Order: sequence, then C-alpha cells, then structure tokens
Amino acid sequence: MEDLYVNYRRYEDGDNAYDDMSQKVFNAGQGAFCPTYQNRTAPCQASCPSGHDIRTWVNIVARRIKPTQGLSWQEFAFQRMVEANPFPAVMGMTCPAPCQTKCNRNDVEGYVGINAIEHTIGAWALANKVALPKPAQESGMTAAVVGSGVAALSCAYQLRRQGHKVVLFSTAERLGGVMVGPGFPQDVVEQEIQRILDFGGIEVRREAAPSGDFAAVFWSEGLGGQAKPGDFVPDKAADDLPTTQVGQGWRAARDMGASMRGEKPIDRPRFDVHRFDLLEDLAVHDKAPAAYPGGPVGNSDTEPFSVHNYEDRSRDRLVATRDLFLAHFKTAPRHERAAPTEPLAEAEAIKESRRCMSCGMCFECSVCIQYCPVGAVERVKSGERSYGRFVETNYAKCIRCQICKDVCPTGYIQMGLER
Ligand code: SF4
Ligand code: SF4
Repeated sequence: MEDLYVNYRRYEDGDNAYDDMSQKVFNAGQGAFCPTYQNRTAPCQASCPSGHDIRTWVNIVARRIKPTQGLSWQEFAFQRMVEANPFPAVMGMTCPAPCQTKCNRNDVEGYVGINAIEHTIGAWALANKVALPKPAQESGMTAAVVGSGVAALSCAYQLRRQGHKVVLFSTAERLGGVMVGPGFPQDVVEQEIQRILDFGGIEVRREAAPSGDFAAVFWSEGLGGQAKPGDFVPDKAADDLPTTQVGQGWRAARDMGASMRGEKPIDRPRFDVHRFDLLEDLAVHDKAPAAYPGGPVGNSDTEPFSVHNYEDRSRDRLVATRDLFLAHFKTAPRHERAAPTEPLAEAEAIKESRRCMSCGMCFECSVCIQYCPVGAVERVKSGERSYGRFVETNYAKCIRCQICKDVCPTGYIQMGLER
C-alpha cells in the first residue's frame, strides 16, 4: 500500500549517492541578488486583534532574547506584552486566540500555545505585583475618555503611557464592560483594571459626558453618536471581543496622541500591530548607528550610519509557512495547561515557547554560517550584535548561490532587496 504519511524528507531510502556538489553549487550563482535579512510580520501577530508583538515576547520567554536593564525574563516579557495589551492574564485565559489559528506551526504538528504563555506571564506579573511602566515624561496635556469598557480602558492606558493625563467619564457601577460579565475570571479582571488605575494620572469621574476642556476626546462604541467633530471614536470592529477592543483603544490613543502633538495621523500599515523595531532596540543598548551625513555615499555597508544587511519589511510583508525551512524543526507536542484557569509551570512555558519557529526573524541558529560554501556569512561583531543583528553577508565573497536562503529555518534571509 502506498505510504501516505507526511514528512519532510528530501531523499528516499538508499538515495545516498550524490553528484559533484561543487559543480552544482558553484554553477548555481546565476542570479543578480545577494542575501539580505528581512524582518517580516509573523502570521500570529498579523491576526492578533490587540496588536501584540507575539513573536518577540514568545522569544523572550524562550530565552532567545536576553532581558535588558537587569530585568528578569518574566518581567521583560511582561513589559513587551503590555506595550499592546494591559490585560495579559485575562486575555490568556479567555481569548479565542486567532493568533493560534494562524500560527505557522500548524503546518508542522500544531500551533504554539501562545495563549497559555501569555496567561503564564500575566499571572506571574499579578502574583509578583509588577506595576505598569511609567511614562518617560509628562506632556502637560489632558485627554477625556468616555466609557467603561475595554476599548475605553485600553485607550486611557495608552494615552497615559504617552505621558498625557486622562479623565475617564463613566457612570457604570464597575469598569470593564464585557469583562465584568459571565465567562471572565472576576478576580483577575479586577486586579488588571486596578493596575491601570494604580498607574497614576487617570482620574475616574462618575459623569456620563465630559465637562471641561480637553486636548482630545474619545467616545466608546455605543456612545459615539455624541461625538463632536474632531473627537475620536473606535475603529469599526467585526466582533465585540475584548482583544479587539484593546486594539481599538491603542489605535485611537495613537491617533489622539498625534493630534494632541499637532502631528498628522500616521499612515496605517497593512499590518497595524506592534512590531520589533531594530533601531529602537539598538538605541536602548547604546548601539544606535551614527547619523546619516547626507549626500551620496559609496559602499554604504561599511559606513557607521548604516545597519548593513537589515531591512524592516514588517509593515507590509507576511511570512508564510512556504517561506520557512520546515525540515529544521523537530516535531514536539504542545505543553497544555491542566485547566484554562491554571497557568503553565515556568519550565513548561519555556519549553512551549521554544516550539515557536520565530517566523520572519533570526533566532541565531547559525545554520546559514555553516552551510555557506564560501564562508561569506559571518557573525556580526560581538560589540555590535543584538537581536535581529546576528549574521551578515560579506558581499565581496558572496557567489549568490542562495544556499543560506534555502536553509534559513525562519525565512529571515531573502535574495535581493525585493522579492
Ligand atoms: S511559530 Fe512562532 S512566530 Fe511563527 S506564527 Fe507561530 S507563534 Fe508566531
Ligand atoms: S539561518 Fe539561522 S542564524 Fe542564519 S539568518 Fe536564518 S535564523 Fe538567523
């Protein structure tokens, strides 16, 4: 009977004689393109309505990204999560997880347990009473947010992160909207809302509509009919999931912040989510490139103002399974929670996060270095190395054979500046 099971073998049994590979390799470089390293958006992130930078915090938990500023890996992951979503414990317990449905690992043996990892870090932060990070500086401006639901709380929180004071207007008996209804863990909901109020700078007024002068006003869905020209209302949503409302809140707060600073609203990218920003990361680690002096420059790859080989295509490029080299990944069963209310043990969370294939971002496996036939792929110098800056190509040696691209498990290497 024909063998129908799926595997990733490239050779049949007994297929152990090979041609002269040097001829194949060295004659293969007919293309014009050398490799470049492209950060693209992973499908988990693209499908998360709250706009989480999932790949980054999963890889912090996997210990592939080292914490900065003396933080524990749990707190570092938590800080990355709450850039998008101030309710990681609630969402980890209740979200239907469209991120998992779209996870590329479904094409191996099953999705990464993103929800369980989020829950585990969210629960750890509550158990350890970790506060939300304070804004870097105060803007001196105040915004109004009308409503008590998730979008209103998310918007108030994001405005506060930007350094604005917020007055939240609501006559609801309890803040939280849909989260104070059935199906949500009320003690966890209360703790995560209280953490936002403990942030400081958010005043709750038991009034139905804003009174006073505000630099910008946000109206929750359902109250938006009262908005005046220039006020802000949430994006239209196809559902009323809390995770969707979290995303509505931060996108509104971003537009409000731009308006309050007198800037134009940003052009929304195709994937309007939180993304890893290499330049920001390099700056945090005192490795920012020098300022561009202006004018034409030859051999920019060796100039101190350039980040050689790196392209950020995450605004509009997605990494599909076909872009990965799946043969690299051994099958591994998912580490499940005993119950949706119980987070994973930390060791289990780390093991689960290591199932992530880091789609679209280098995870420092060194395979490209090992397989390059002419030694053109090199490690970035240790003083300049960081997440996303692990390898680079010496173009003087590269013969354009594409082997590094073919063997890169994460789809991080692409040939040429465009696909
Ligand atoms: S394998 Fe990791 S990066 Fe890729 S889609 Fe799944 S969780 Fe996201
Ligand atoms: S092969 Fe490994 S080290 Fe090289 S770019 Fe891809 S993920 Fe990074």
